[in-house]
Amino acid sequence: MALYLIVLVYCVLPSTLCYDNAFEAMDYLMRYGYLAPPDPHTGNLASYADYEKAIVDFQSMAGLEATGVMNNSTLEMMNRPRCGVSDKMGTNRFSHRKRRYALQGSKWFSQNLTYHIANYTHRLQKDTIEEHIHIAIQMWTEFANITFSKVNSTTADIVFVFANRTHNDGYPFDGEGGVLAHAFFPERGGDVHFDDSEKWIVGTASQGIDLLFTAAHELGHSLGLSHSDNINSIMAPIYRASISRQHQLHPDDMRAIQSLYGSRGFDIGTTTPYEHGTSEGHYDICMDPVIDGVTTTQDLSTYFYKGDFYWRFVIGKRLWQMVGYPKRIDSSWNEVEGAIDSVYTTHNGSTFFFKGDRYWEYVNRRFIANGSIADKFVGLPSNIDAIFTWSGNGKTYAIKGSRYYMIQENWHVAAGYPKDMSIWQGLPYARIDAAIGFGGNTRTYFFSGGDYYRFNDRLLQVTFGSAKFT
Ligand code: ZN
Ligand code: ZN
Repeated sequence: MALYLIVLVYCVLPSTLCYDNAFEAMDYLMRYGYLAPPDPHTGNLASYADYEKAIVDFQSMAGLEATGVMNNSTLEMMNRPRCGVSDKMGTNRFSHRKRRYALQGSKWFSQNLTYHIANYTHRLQKDTIEEHIHIAIQMWTEFANITFSKVNSTTADIVFVFANRTHNDGYPFDGEGGVLAHAFFPERGGDVHFDDSEKWIVGTASQGIDLLFTAAHELGHSLGLSHSDNINSIMAPIYRASISRQHQLHPDDMRAIQSLYGSRGFDIGTTTPYEHGTSEGHYDICMDPVIDGVTTTQDLSTYFYKGDFYWRFVIGKRLWQMVGYPKRIDSSWNEVEGAIDSVYTTHNGSTFFFKGDRYWEYVNRRFIANGSIADKFVGLPSNIDAIFTWSGNGKTYAIKGSRYYMIQENWHVAAGYPKDMSIWQGLPYARIDAAIGFGGNTRTYFFSGGDYYRFNDRLLQVTFGSAKFT
């Protein structure tokens, strides 16, 4: 199968191109997400139709005539220096023909970020590098409601690194030319890596690769943007030329960043971007953070529930909110009927939703069972407010009003319960909406009327006071 396809590819190439270009082109199309990599078990490459479509998509992204046929201008564009991040992020990336920005699918939950420059290329003065990374940051913060502060610590949200070849992230650089830099999306940590083999310059007077253009582009990824197929956008994947210190973002970039973080100064207005799914509700959980339930399912996704809707978050160095939410609860957990009372996930990965006198059990989104609370959780009342597994002793507790219940391995409430909530020092009394353990299982977060309380499971007290859940 593999050989057959390579021959086909060879046949469609104009005679001016040599045989190696077919491999080069396919390698490029696979590396940047236009073509699925070969199946390691069968050795199958993509079909010819897939290959042709991949070329159309690349030509379209690069601003070339989309003929689906390899030609010199396509090959020349593939040989230009570029960003190392894949062009095809998310689903149906190329199903629309309108040229505009794309969102990767994650964003920073906090809008006040920190950055750190871990090392410097020898080709530029240290001050020059710092100044131009600062200018690149300002290009984004000028239009979006985000701030950056510089810190001298590798625990910063976004760390800038100059690296050669293999540098311990599985994405080795390729020496001078080719890939210039890459960056990780918010859910992967946001760090920016520059290929130290490039001849880094600033300004238009000298020949080389412009650090300002490259840093501004990579920061777009760090903030949650994918590549744009608007070739004038800073998020276009192929390197263009040096930009001046006064360079402004393209309106396409401004719309993209404002769609994630809101506007500062003026609002460029919105167009519908490409993103993972579309939100169905109009709630903004950050604006009105009273929630019904929160849980981390077996696949380590964290969900917040409110009314008929849910939001997905990813927990890492920080809490990252995924875009495209809220969605309806019953669009993912089909059997659950609307607004829930509470939810929790067991050590074994079973997620239980509670509502009134009913419960529903799932593993991730796969339905397992449902039934009456009284039958399974013997001794537990209907309409519970919160349920969570406490890292202090690994036991599961449910809360209703001013009382709490310990649930045993056999799902029955333990003898001697309910007990009075006053033992949980520092928590609001008799008004807990939801609870969950986070932070390496040493802290439990209690949610109450839009505030959260961080309970230190070792010290048995609230260590974070009451803070707005933002
Ligand atoms: Zn890029
Ligand atoms: Zn890297």
